[in-house]
Amino acid sequence: MSTLLLLPGDGIGPEVCGEVRRVAQVLTPDLNVEERIYGGASYDAHGTPLTDEVRDAALASDAVLMGAVGGPQWANAPRHLRPEAGLLNLRKAMDVYANLRPAYCFEALADASSLKRELVSGLDIMFVRELTGGVYFGQPRGIEDLGGGQKRGVDTQIYTTAEIERVARVAFELARGRGNRVASAEKSNVMESGLLWKQVVTELHARDYPDVQLEHILADNCAMQLVRAPKQFDVIVTDNLFGDILSDAAAMLTGSLGMLPSAALGAAGKPGLYEPIHGSAPDIAGKGVANPLAAILSFEMALRWSLNRADAADALLAAVKAALDGGARTRDLGGELSTAQMGDAVLANLGR
Ligand code: ATP
Ligand code: MG
Repeated sequence: MSTLLLLPGDGIGPEVCGEVRRVAQVLTPDLNVEERIYGGASYDAHGTPLTDEVRDAALASDAVLMGAVGGPQWANAPRHLRPEAGLLNLRKAMDVYANLRPAYCFEALADASSLKRELVSGLDIMFVRELTGGVYFGQPRGIEDLGGGQKRGVDTQIYTTAEIERVARVAFELARGRGNRVASAEKSNVMESGLLWKQVVTELHARDYPDVQLEHILADNCAMQLVRAPKQFDVIVTDNLFGDILSDAAAMLTGSLGMLPSAALGAAGKPGLYEPIHGSAPDIAGKGVANPLAAILSFEMALRWSLNRADAADALLAAVKAALDGGARTRDLGGELSTAQMGDAVLANLGR
């Protein structure tokens, strides 16, 4: 039996994860769903956002689904004990190096009149962002005092062949199940790490994935193309920094924050870490109005990528589409449904 570890966290996390729990009971009754406290809630109870026990439970599970962590009440906690530190430590412990961030637009939301924003109907991009290397981790880093009132801020971008190859492999594998196209974004014209990135991706492609169409694109041009003609892309693989920026930009072409899931994957057979991209939303926490679809779609990704249940994932995705087609809208989508009512709408469409 597979185990899903739920870490609801803080703010709206417990509310949206409650809907995941209801969906799992109906869709995958044989799935063992465990739950632990985590984030600010764990800091309050145990003095740390991630206890060793919870970390070990995560490593022993088949997939971890998080709600969100953090909130204003923990802003003055020591930096290494803040809820967000618990998230970084969990990512590190699980060694999840490939961040999958889909940017797709549900047809039912495409007119977007209620969102007061322009969406891109038919958009369906999968970002694969390198998550555990690059400039966010490279040494040396820090702020040095140069004297005379001058300081120097230093960051270092480092990528090894192995780090590039393993994340690129994830992108090529994914592409085979989709549009069979990968765009690899870097700045090989000005960065040595970008040049190595391009070489390693080129070699891996020639060796193992010649059937997949590969395009190398400079990251600045990729940003431009995402605004100009975003539907040209299928899978985009890129480093930690560019992936952070490019995937956020593309996310805004698809609708509400409340709709967007993500996955972080490590080596084959190791548990993946799934979470909505939204935060703990303290402004609406406890009101029962948060959109649970980002969390429910994160569960959909967990079913597909860690739990070996593509059939259940397909059924869940279809149920979400049907609920939206039927007019189900939480407040962030311009409607009036509560968190639980949106959960009801998905449940009502499961198995149809
Ligand atoms: P964090 O720093 O934790 O990422 P944030 O400041 O980026 O937090 P969020 O917590 O994601 O922001 O919230 C941003 C805005 O989006 C808030 O107004 C919040 O209410 C809204 N929001 C976020 N998630 C949802 C959701 N699931 N349903 C409805 N509204 C949401
Ligand atoms: Mg945020």
